[in-house]
Amino acid sequence: MSKKTRKFLSYYRPYMGLFFSDMFFALLAAAVSLVYPMVVRYITNDILVNQEISEAIPLIIKLLFGMLGLVIIEFLSIFYVTYQGHIMGAKMEYDMRNDIFEHYQKLSFNFFDNQKTGQLMSRVTNDLFDITELCHHGPEDIVISLIKFIGAFIILLRINVKLTLIVFAFLPIMFFYAYYMRGRMNRAFRKNRERIAEINAQIEDNLSGIRVVKSFANESVEIDKFHTGNSRFVDSKRNSYKTMAIFHSGLNLFTSFINIAVIAGGGLFIANKLINVGDLLTFLLYINTLIDPVKKLINFTESFQNGMTGFDRFFEIIEIEPDILDKPNAITLKNVKGRIEFKNVSFKYNDTLSEVFRGINLTVEAGDYMALVGSSGVGKTTMCSLIPRFYEVSEGCITIDGKDIRDITLRSLRKNIGIVQQDVYLFAGTVMDNIRYGRLDATEEEVIEAAKNANAHEFIMELPDGYNTYIGQRGIKLSGGQKQRLSIARVFLKNPPILIFDEATSALDNESEKVVQDSLEKLAKNRTTFVIAHRLSTIKNAKKILVLTEEGIKESGTHEELLAKDGIYAGLYRMTFERKGSSENSV
Ligand code: ADP
Ligand code: MG
Repeated sequence: MSKKTRKFLSYYRPYMGLFFSDMFFALLAAAVSLVYPMVVRYITNDILVNQEISEAIPLIIKLLFGMLGLVIIEFLSIFYVTYQGHIMGAKMEYDMRNDIFEHYQKLSFNFFDNQKTGQLMSRVTNDLFDITELCHHGPEDIVISLIKFIGAFIILLRINVKLTLIVFAFLPIMFFYAYYMRGRMNRAFRKNRERIAEINAQIEDNLSGIRVVKSFANESVEIDKFHTGNSRFVDSKRNSYKTMAIFHSGLNLFTSFINIAVIAGGGLFIANKLINVGDLLTFLLYINTLIDPVKKLINFTESFQNGMTGFDRFFEIIEIEPDILDKPNAITLKNVKGRIEFKNVSFKYNDTLSEVFRGINLTVEAGDYMALVGSSGVGKTTMCSLIPRFYEVSEGCITIDGKDIRDITLRSLRKNIGIVQQDVYLFAGTVMDNIRYGRLDATEEEVIEAAKNANAHEFIMELPDGYNTYIGQRGIKLSGGQKQRLSIARVFLKNPPILIFDEATSALDNESEKVVQDSLEKLAKNRTTFVIAHRLSTIKNAKKILVLTEEGIKESGTHEELLAKDGIYAGLYRMTFERKGSSENSV
């Protein structure tokens, strides 16, 4: 058994009770449906022919009551199977959905760098939709259909062999027809899904960029584009409905042909006394019991395919081993002083050929304010993302207070590091919720204290509902500087001994930069801080400035030392200040 099949079956394990009771009632319903025509046959062949009417009527009434009993059993069984069976499928789907979400939380940056969010989302939602149907109907449909088919086949044979042969002459043709049409239908439906996916993509793109659309006054172009996509979708739907109509009416036609052929043959047989009326009637009733499961199995192939495609996409993800994990005996980082050391660190991204840097050595004493400068793309962000182990060093090691970060639990490591980046992500929720994300058990007073420290309290109080103001998914209702101050408040609340500021102020205008800069400086007090910045004002006061180039760290020292050295840093510095008419003091 393949690993995938084993994984699939493992989801049945918690629901064995449900599974077997479901199967039991499904079998019961199938058995009952096989019994009905028998009763009819008994009434017409035995009772009506052999008994006096006065004796026959009480017997028939008894039998009718018996049939009523069967109807009730069938009704209850079908209810149970439809309800509980789907519940079982839904529970399995629920388990899978939880598993894949939990798995996402364990995967590292390496994984997310190479994935589209929309695609990852659909694996948790759409792709799993058909699983319920598959888990529930799969085993049940196959077993029931087979039993019904075989049962009806045996009974038909016992009633009349020649008539059965007539039926079986049609079945292969019907089967091939259904198979062929099913293929056409699947293709038509796949086309539908592609078209609607195109529409979705178009809507997402349009709405995300609606501000650009409007600023270029291109609404009508967008509308035309949308109409085209939308009518392509309708066309594909028309096509799929046509094939569906041909498919279903065709199947019906076949069933009718079979019935007509049986009636014709049966009539001939009756004339020749080869069969009696009761048997022919029973035979006709059983034809449906025989054909239903054939139709069902044909339909099942589709839900099987859909379900399995969904499971494949689920399994692809579940199978990926998280590459950054706690060691079995990882230690918890406590009472951190904040001395950080890079020892001969080299790093290369998984999917790239060359290293970003190699052989980096560097020591930052506890509480130091350390700046990292260098042109765009040399690896400043990368270097800092190695400290919280967002990526694993390729060679060498990084230590905090002398402990290799790979020996520390990820949780305690990351709880001790605060990061402020250029892009701020705010979750859908209130201002209070968003700041509290820094420490979930913080009291209201602590949140407000943190906001004050981050220079955010005043503007928060001016919002319509103060701390309870709901901010949209990306904090769309706040300015860049306001969002940045919320993200700083978050870090104040987290209160980590180590900080990383990665171009935290680069996207801000001069005025809000000053406010944010001020709160960043407050935050940095008594903490080990790495600052990546392109504004010299942030860097001048650094205890040490590192100049990163393609060849590694080329210079290090204080602002004055580096200017005196008259090397790369001095060049960068002069360049920004000699830029004519520029008030920007950036490197
Ligand atoms: P900086 O912060 O100094 O501007 P980065 O650390 O962002 O530079 O990038 C360093 C180099 O690594 C660049 O060449 C960039 O293209 C590459 N890089 C950055 N992130 C990734 C990633 N997730 N996967 C592969 N390459 C990356
Ligand atoms: Mg960067």
